[in-house]
Amino acid sequence: MTATPGKVTMEKLVSLCQRRGFIFPSSDIYGGLSSCWDYGPVGVELKRNVKEAWWRANVRDRDDMVGLDTSILMNPRVWEASGHVTAFSDPLVECKKCHQRFRADDLPPEAEGKCPNCGGDFTEPQQFNLMFKTFIGPVEDAASVVYLRPETAQGIFVNFANVLNTSRKRLPFGIAQIGKSFRNEITTGNFIFRSREFEQMEIEYFVRPGTDDEWFAYWTNERLKFYGSLGIRKENLRLRQHGQDELAHYSRCCSDIEYNFPMGWAELEGIANRGDYDLKQHMEYSGKGLTYLDEATNQHIVPYVIEPSAGVDRTVLAVLCDAYDEEPDKDEIRVLFHFHPDVAPVKVAVLPLSRKENLAACAKDVYASLRPCFATQYDDTQSIGRRYRRQDELGTPYCVTVDFQSLEDNMATIRERDTMNQIRVPTAALADTLAKKLAGEDILVLPEGGVIWKEETKGG
Ligand code: ATP
Repeated sequence: MTATPGKVTMEKLVSLCQRRGFIFPSSDIYGGLSSCWDYGPVGVELKRNVKEAWWRANVRDRDDMVGLDTSILMNPRVWEASGHVTAFSDPLVECKKCHQRFRADDLPPEAEGKCPNCGGDFTEPQQFNLMFKTFIGPVEDAASVVYLRPETAQGIFVNFANVLNTSRKRLPFGIAQIGKSFRNEITTGNFIFRSREFEQMEIEYFVRPGTDDEWFAYWTNERLKFYGSLGIRKENLRLRQHGQDELAHYSRCCSDIEYNFPMGWAELEGIANRGDYDLKQHMEYSGKGLTYLDEATNQHIVPYVIEPSAGVDRTVLAVLCDAYDEEPDKDEIRVLFHFHPDVAPVKVAVLPLSRKENLAACAKDVYASLRPCFATQYDDTQSIGRRYRRQDELGTPYCVTVDFQSLEDNMATIRERDTMNQIRVPTAALADTLAKKLAGEDILVLPEGGVIWKEETKGG
């Protein structure tokens, strides 16, 4: 019977990610730890590529941005000033019957206010602070309490003067940071969508008051473009503006970029106009000046800030969901990730047709010539068909096959993941040709001496 291709589901993704070394449950041999995940050999490459693309687009390629890497543990006064100690909480309800706990504002509508687990009644909602607490130093008392940061943003605000004085940036300018954040979420789930330890990519973009609306619009547009540059399809992205009742008291405006995940539309990134709230709070609590001397008027002003705040793990999940595909393949199903070449964890795989010594030596030479140029894998296990399928499941854009004819004509076959088209090119032209293909050139455009490979060998 012919298998029928299906849609992406979270179950399929979790299983494929585990099988191919993208993502494993944390502390797996001990039965895992609720909603904590480890990125495997392939996943770590994918995640790094996402972070690097973000860093390049938002820091390296711009004159008006600088980066920062601040510590996870900070003076607890930071979290008093930011409002997290008093207000960073979610409403928690407990089922009176089965005692399971839920986030009151995140219950499925079909539960109609009853426990989704057993139908029992809930207790009154209580505010539950999401910050993880620990102690600094050897004494575990109230004076030594510190928090694991629940966002990377505050590390940026408290360094505003340091950055201004050392980088000599003029308004408008931004500070970017990528790093771990921790939230003791009441309910987690949906794989890496909501976990208690995750990574954020945050920008605080400082502007002159009065220009904030246009910068908010600018950044919303930039950030949508960024997801497009990762290969995420437009139709799976949407913008949702927060209603007045959702806005934090200091927030002047906020929109979420949402992605159409298998469980439905959900937040990928939040973009907020935070006004001058954060800098003013830190001035008040620290007693230090965090103002900007406007050269034109010779007056100190407190800049407004636009904050595009994205999750690394949610972006990785969106990239995985968007790239996942199943296609009919004879009587079977070909599963593949159509990763954009910039994020693909492996760019090129070198596959010798057999392990025979002379062929292996030739394939190893090819591998050695490509490895300095791209993330390249060498794979000589199992049949060539199986190896192609494995690379498809890793989302590798190009496979280079070295066969016995290669020993005579110094040519190798490049096979493209999405079309399965194949061309044969001189091995000396491989690196250059692959670089062009990875940059978007059609597979069937040939280098000098190249040929479109025979029909009968296609489809491997
Ligand atoms: P949510 O409403 O989903 O709890 P949030 O509005 O609290 O998210 P922000 O505080 O705006 O999230 O954080 C910015 C980004 O950090 C989010 O858009 C998301 O991508 C990421 N993020 C926040 N919490 C988590 C989490 N528990 N696990 C993974 N990523 C997260």
